[in-house]
Amino acid sequence: MAEEVFTGIGGQPVRRVAVVGAGLAGCLMAVLLARRGLEVDLYERRSDPRLVGAERGRSINLAISARGLDALSRVGLDEQALAAALPMHGRTLHGTDGKVGYQSYSADGTRAINSISRSGLNASLLDCAEQTPGVTLHFGHQLRTLDARTGDLVLGTDDGEVTATADIVIGSDGAYSAVRRAIQFAEGFDFSQSFLPHGYKELTIPPTADGDFALDEHSLHIWPRGSSMMIALPNLDRSFTCTLFWPKTGADSFAALERPDQIDAYFRTHYPDAHPLMPTLVEDFQHNPVGSLVTVRAYPWVRDRVALLGDAAHAIVPFFGQGANCSFEDCIELDRCLTDSAGDWSAALRLYQERRKPNADAIAEMALENFVEMSDKVNSKVFQAVTSTRHFLERRLPERYVSRYELVSFTTTPYAQINGRIRRQDTIAGAAAAVALGGLALGVRRLLRRG
Ligand code: FAD
Repeated sequence: MAEEVFTGIGGQPVRRVAVVGAGLAGCLMAVLLARRGLEVDLYERRSDPRLVGAERGRSINLAISARGLDALSRVGLDEQALAAALPMHGRTLHGTDGKVGYQSYSADGTRAINSISRSGLNASLLDCAEQTPGVTLHFGHQLRTLDARTGDLVLGTDDGEVTATADIVIGSDGAYSAVRRAIQFAEGFDFSQSFLPHGYKELTIPPTADGDFALDEHSLHIWPRGSSMMIALPNLDRSFTCTLFWPKTGADSFAALERPDQIDAYFRTHYPDAHPLMPTLVEDFQHNPVGSLVTVRAYPWVRDRVALLGDAAHAIVPFFGQGANCSFEDCIELDRCLTDSAGDWSAALRLYQERRKPNADAIAEMALENFVEMSDKVNSKVFQAVTSTRHFLERRLPERYVSRYELVSFTTTPYAQINGRIRRQDTIAGAAAAVALGGLALGVRRLLRRG
């Protein structure tokens, strides 16, 4: 195969790319670029997580769905990921009275999102990057400064600062990106970060004494409590990782519970069926950190030799389980843009941000809305009736009526097209219902006349 020739900024050739951040998106991007024949340096501030274990305070597991799996399939990792995941076919809802309800994610109940270990997935991607010719991993390298015009990087290591240079620099260094900071203060760069008043904290439900799952392992469990909630996702070791999404301060908040007896009593009252399953509740609550929930909006994602990817470009809140899925899609899109622009990096990066930004904006909004759905609406009879009606329509009109949840989680329909499609479907369904009701009314009138 002829070697692909890349042109870059100012028509100079592009041979060497620096990817900053070897998280989920950075690793995948490094593999895709190296497969095109580029030399890729992947810089990561942490030590090799495969040797030192996961960082405390980062979410332990993730829900990976169609978009993430589609992206992983491009590098042959989808089956490996699925083999290490537990499918969750629906939501199990836990009331304050201890009663339990179930809502399947798809009309036929067979489709599932997949609970997978974040560190396990990151390790698979690191292995893949390490085995890909052209990728060089640099752990313990934290980006300090970057010149977007020249591609010169300064990185902090245990042995002091080192310098490097690259034709293109990709910032996949997460929500608080140092790469983004390097381009953020230039004229024309729009940036905002908005924090929810809620934070998150992880707790554990271990396996039962018999070594079994303490709850149904094929569900995502939710304890909806109005303005707050707890969720639990199953792990391969038969434990569940619970995540509290609570206000940071005020009544019913993280700050409101300090003493062991307060914590214990609160869970006994508000999470009565989970409380007996959590022997390390007080210890977990007191020691595990409270993480922040931030939405980052930035644009443009591209300046000179630099491009942003994943959370660095668009961190979103986790209530649709799409942050990583969306970040993986970014990688596939950037790779596709390189093909579509015949290896011209300037054109490819422009195309990449134009194609991805509307999608990132759309999922950011849907993720914020889904907090209200998960923590509150799922309890309402109206919501349950609407969900049942939607599932009915999906069964009767397969392919033509598809719920928003299914479009987000079980298809690769661009996020930006989803709300428009739902509106059109609902209009048609509404019109059909009106016709059906009209027909029914006519029939009743005829019957009444006959009677
Ligand atoms: P990250 O995964 O954050 O990786 C960034 C990497 O850059 C890290 O390895 C970091 O160490 C490194 N880095 C940072 N700064 C520097 C620097 N200066 N120099 C060098 N390296 C640096 N998404 C889903 O799809 N499904 C879910 O179910 C889901 N659940 C979530 C639950 C919670 C509580 C949270 C907070 C998020 C969740 N997400 C989920 C979102 C998901 O975690 C992120 O969207 C995803 O990790 C983004 O990948 P990334 O590679 O862009 O960034």
